[in-house]
Amino acid sequence: MKSIVITTLLLSINLLSAQQLNEVTYEVGFSKTPNPHLEVSVTFVTDPYSEKTSFFFPNSHWGRDSLRNCLKNVRFSEKVISVKFSTDSIIQVHHRKGIDTIKLHYTIEQDVGKEINYDNFSRPIVQPNYFHVYTHSLFILPDINPKDNLKITIDWKTPNQKYHNSFGTNIKHQIIQTTRKKFEESVHIGGDYRLYTEHLKNKKISIAIRDTWIPFNDAKIITFLKEITKGLRTFWNDFDKEDYLIVVSPMNNFKGKGYKGIGLTNSFTTALSNNSYIKDKDLLQLFNHEMVHDWIGVSILNDNEEEQYWFSEGFTDYINFKLAATYSFTENRNSYFTKKLNITILELLISKSRNIKNKEITYEKFWSDYYTQIIPYKRGALFAFLLDLKICSTSKGTLKLDDFLRAILNDARKNGQKIDHPYFVSKANEFLKEDITTFFTRYIENGEDLPLQQTFDQYGLKYELTSYTNKKEKQFKNIPKLLENQDNKLLNLLFK
Ligand SMILES: [Zn+2]
Repeated sequence: MKSIVITTLLLSINLLSAQQLNEVTYEVGFSKTPNPHLEVSVTFVTDPYSEKTSFFFPNSHWGRDSLRNCLKNVRFSEKVISVKFSTDSIIQVHHRKGIDTIKLHYTIEQDVGKEINYDNFSRPIVQPNYFHVYTHSLFILPDINPKDNLKITIDWKTPNQKYHNSFGTNIKHQIIQTTRKKFEESVHIGGDYRLYTEHLKNKKISIAIRDTWIPFNDAKIITFLKEITKGLRTFWNDFDKEDYLIVVSPMNNFKGKGYKGIGLTNSFTTALSNNSYIKDKDLLQLFNHEMVHDWIGVSILNDNEEEQYWFSEGFTDYINFKLAATYSFTENRNSYFTKKLNITILELLISKSRNIKNKEITYEKFWSDYYTQIIPYKRGALFAFLLDLKICSTSKGTLKLDDFLRAILNDARKNGQKIDHPYFVSKANEFLKEDITTFFTRYIENGEDLPLQQTFDQYGLKYELTSYTNKKEKQFKNIPKLLENQDNKLLNLLFK
């Protein structure tokens, strides 16, 4: 009996100290002189019985490396004996025993380019009049399991400047309780961003836009975002959301058409070239895609990141094709869906990597090779279309891919189910009469050419075979192209 009491006591002490260890307090300020930088002071609670504490500040992230170039002027409290970067992401601090906190100061400065552009969008941007920095490149974090909870306090020290992040807007004093992973995947902005607040079923949506736009004005951006948010929350039947932040920044120095976005916790951030090459449809495509990641990517997680990009990127694109075809501001709404599918088919079939095996789409290959990077998007979107047709036809129009995805969301939220291949196949089989194991293995895992023509023939979808010649005069033949505005019963049912 006695020993049980002792065990319980020890356990509760351990739990208590574990909880305290995950508390961290940051003070952040923004200064233009001597050069633009963010000034950070942080206090960590440490284990008094240990002489070592490790911290997390990745040098490589999202395909970018040398991110530690931006970490400058690191100064630890006098209790610290030595500091070293032990791995690509871990800082190992050796300190005296018996201390309960470590305090450190540092600055974050921009290392690549000037204004936001294609190359530095995933890196810290700290300019004289604004900043845009992701958590992993702003805050040195405790080296804990990414799934563990953190209690983060942030105090903003620059009163004449505005500061917003994925967890709140107009922040002065903020307390965040979340997992390290969710905190890591967030963005911090400040300076001359204009903030607009909208509400959807009493949930707040903040939109931050900066600079003067050539292709459109703030009102257009807001109109688009409002309808897209409503469309997607209706699609997922999910209105119970945290406050949400959307950031729209211009790439002023980008020649031609270009845009980028990253879906984050309770937020997404985008950058678009600020010129007349950018059209409404680009705005739509970008916003739609990034917002779907609020479900696929945030709630529904890949089991092994790149291995399931065919789902997290491809299915995301497909949902967009469907939804965008229903928005009031979409041009040619009747043909939008078929047009999008046709472009996807063409892009996949003329790609050098069209038959790359799914396993070969690794982190290195994905981030270094454009031809590989586009495959999960195109292959996944077309696979989603074929699956949508199968589900809709099997259920005689009573079910669609939409229902299947809502069921996946439900499993993810209830049981923490991630997307892995056996789960995906068995879940899809619940919506079908036939087993799709072989179908999945052939077309997703092995990268065989999708059975587009066979499927179109099977469901009576009208198409023509076209050819395409690329810049190097290489000719591609027999590329199926669905006819626009065709009146196919099954196709119509996908939108019912
Ligand atoms: Zn994406």
